[in-house]
Amino acid sequence: MNISLAETAKALSGARKLVLTAHVNPDGDAIGSALGLGHVLRGMGKDVQVFIDDDIPAIFSVLPGYEVIERPEKETREEKIKADLLVVLDTSLDRIGDVGDIVDAPVFNIDHHVTNKGEAERLYLDSNRAATAEIMYELIKEMGQDFTQDIAMCIYTGIATDTGFFRYSNTTPFTMRAAAELMEYGVKPNIISEAMEQKSYDVVKGMAEAMQTIERFCDGKAAGLFLDQALTASIENTEGFIDMVRVIEGVDVAVLLKCKEERLCRVSMRSKGLDVAKIADGFGGGGHVRAAGCTLEMSFAEAKKTIMEAIGKALEAGI
Ligand code: 5GP
Ligand code: MN
Repeated sequence: MNISLAETAKALSGARKLVLTAHVNPDGDAIGSALGLGHVLRGMGKDVQVFIDDDIPAIFSVLPGYEVIERPEKETREEKIKADLLVVLDTSLDRIGDVGDIVDAPVFNIDHHVTNKGEAERLYLDSNRAATAEIMYELIKEMGQDFTQDIAMCIYTGIATDTGFFRYSNTTPFTMRAAAELMEYGVKPNIISEAMEQKSYDVVKGMAEAMQTIERFCDGKAAGLFLDQALTASIENTEGFIDMVRVIEGVDVAVLLKCKEERLCRVSMRSKGLDVAKIADGFGGGGHVRAAGCTLEMSFAEAKKTIMEAIGKALEAGI
């Protein structure tokens, strides 16, 4: 059931114990939204736990509260956590790993993905917002709460990372105003961007290797990096690699294929016009018109052929 922002604020304000979560393979929006909302709710005297079923990249240690994020560890847990609400941020319920299984609580979903499947008992969805963190910004106001520097840093990071630091087409005047206001609470954009962009020496070397795999296809309208299992395993973090492909002259669709296991490949796509969420949706994934992803349970060679063909078809159809 879709609910309003006011109803969302009321439900959160009325709960005493809340568990917050966000999607696996967490990005700045997932982590920033969960930590920012966590700070607000704790400030209201509530009992809050934050679970994400994945490793949290070290770059996010710049965010206050980074250390409170827990893994569900379903196997070793004796009983479920009883809470008033399980708040799922920045994804539909299919990408939260084991968190749903360890919490006994009504689910409350807050998201900005147009592909949200709407299976939550209650959903606040605003696909016009650039980031879930932008919704958090509105929600905090709706709840009548004040920002602190800690809250502002988390929310700002979510907005900044999902808009490519205010460069993508999802950036609106609302985005800029929200960011400006968050700066009034002590956010230093250079501190956040330096932390987010920091890469280890090995990752930069890995980027050079990944770049060797670049291929253009569909008459140069698409290009991709195709990392086989060995190369994927050797690079700790591929954040930002796809942006190097996206900038190529004439390229509308950029793709990054990573082979995680023998028959498990991850696809990331970016576009300048084509609806890549539609392509990802066709494989059980999702995202936004210009940034989307999916998982392909097939060999590296099959996955490469499959995604190249799907992109080719979509470019031909011009959707
Ligand atoms: P990225 O390529 O950065 O992993 O993801 C781009 C966008 O697509 C993000 O908004 C992300 O949440 C979404 N996305 C990526 N992979 C998946 C997926 O497997 N399923 C769904 N529903 N969304 C995805
Ligand atoms: Mn997001």
